[in-house]
Amino acid sequence: MADYDVIIIGAGLGGLTSGSILSRQGRRVLVLEQSDRIGGACASYEKDGFTFDIGACIVEVMEPIEMAFRMLGTTLQDEVELVSCDPIYSFVFQDGSRLSVPLSFDGAAEVVERIAPGETANWRRFVEYFGDFYDQVIDSFFVNPANTMTDLLKMFAARPRILKYLPLFGGNYEDVVRKFFSDEKVQQITGYQACYMGLPPERTSGIFAMLVYAEHLGMFYPRGGMMQIPEAFRRLGEKHGMEVRTDTLVKKVLVEDRRARGVVLDDGTEITSDLVVSNVNARQLYLDMIGEEHLPWLARYGIKSYKLSHSDCMLNLGLDYGPPLDAHFSAMAAPMEVMNEKNKETENGILHDDKLGLICWTTLSDPAMAPEGKHTLNIVMEGPYDLRGTDWDKEKEPCKERAIAFFDKVIPGLADHVQVAELLTPYDFERRLLYPGGAIYDLELDLTQSATFRPAARSKSIKGLYLAGNSTHPGGGVPVVIGSGIICADLIDRYE
Ligand SMILES: Cc1cc2nc3c(=O)[nH]c(=O)nc-3n(C[C@H](O)[C@H](O)[C@H](O)COP(=O)(O)OP(=O)(O)OC[C@H]3O[C@@H](n4cnc5c(N)ncnc54)[C@H](O)[C@@H]3O)c2cc1C
Repeated sequence: MADYDVIIIGAGLGGLTSGSILSRQGRRVLVLEQSDRIGGACASYEKDGFTFDIGACIVEVMEPIEMAFRMLGTTLQDEVELVSCDPIYSFVFQDGSRLSVPLSFDGAAEVVERIAPGETANWRRFVEYFGDFYDQVIDSFFVNPANTMTDLLKMFAARPRILKYLPLFGGNYEDVVRKFFSDEKVQQITGYQACYMGLPPERTSGIFAMLVYAEHLGMFYPRGGMMQIPEAFRRLGEKHGMEVRTDTLVKKVLVEDRRARGVVLDDGTEITSDLVVSNVNARQLYLDMIGEEHLPWLARYGIKSYKLSHSDCMLNLGLDYGPPLDAHFSAMAAPMEVMNEKNKETENGILHDDKLGLICWTTLSDPAMAPEGKHTLNIVMEGPYDLRGTDWDKEKEPCKERAIAFFDKVIPGLADHVQVAELLTPYDFERRLLYPGGAIYDLELDLTQSATFRPAARSKSIKGLYLAGNSTHPGGGVPVVIGSGIICADLIDRYE
């Protein structure tokens, strides 16, 4: 008999979601995490009394998260205290002007009316269109497998109205926004969300414009930091016997006759299991941990052809004053052609002095994230892995100083009030979380690497091997990887 029913490699959200659900089904589950903490990119850490997030800092698109907690016999509200952010954004435009967008659809309509009266009716059309699309996909596409074309056909058969939106899947985000709005400022506040995919609006799939709608259903921050979400899954899993070991690096997946039989740890220890779930980058899984010799030629070729997603930097600041900002989330907005252009330059290893990005003022929602009277900011900004003519070991400190100087113009007084400043670079994500190329979503989220084209949640090459997290359908992002954990647990329930 194997040591465990299921071994999960990686304690990211995808791994912990599937692990906790599988434990509740009565399986003996072991989660192995190489770092000293769980949560992967959805985690928090403390420095000099300030609590910072490592990566993810927004919770939105709640349905998959709520569904996962329901499957664990509880509710999200009972497990994690979420603070609702309203206004949802303060947009900072390139000319320095600002605009707050409230949570409610009607409040947002009033903002649009103020910027461009002719666009209000278009806003209402946009909300209606994406509201219907959201209702069609949120409890189908995001929580059902897309391993095969049959899976996709089943999804469409159950929800034939999705077919009406096929042009969105093939079209790009920029075209969608331009189709609805002609005013440039309205385009900026509805085009901004493309940057979450790490692609320029001209290369981001049109379906992601849905985020603009979804954000008005709620944007949240967990009291205590993003870590509270993985901690809740760990707590619930452990209640049902799930075991979690940190500081435990998995080196290899044991494979016999194309079947996963367990794992080999860094120190050579073998732990056997009937099933293995991988929550790590799929290229790394198949090429380094399994080995090409165990893969059919088509799988070898396929896995090598995947492009990694973009990487980012995270600037974490502990301040001894209240920053003059208008909202929890301040978005550095720009016209879509500027976003396209900057993205191309970033892909060519150029770092800009003026940043696009997202400023998260976490202490606005939870003052306990800093010592009394002090504040924390988490700023997500560009960070290409390969820098032109230099590298991150040389650039980390100078880049941090330049970024503080830039954000000092956006947030007056900032530079004089920084007590703690840390820049997490793509090298840090690679070294701490073993993200190849610092890729924040493992694999790029474009159409050619989505749904059936993304590595399958139930491996087609290795029996008993399942995937959860960024690398598999539906892709990256907090609610999305939780959706992948649900799918993974469902598939195991169905086939094993
Ligand atoms: C800078 C940044 C900002 C982001 N902002 C947002 C946001 O605001 N909102 C949002 O929704 N999403 C955001 N994301 C994306 C989101 O955080 C991720 O999509 C999600 O957390 C990934 O979850 P996952 O299940 O794929 O696991 P991961 O978080 O990738 O965790 C994988 C785990 O596996 C471990 N591991 C790797 N190799 C091994 C091994 N060999 N042995 C054992 N353990 C191993 C790693 O240490 C890690 O803990 C952001 C990501 C980053 C990096």
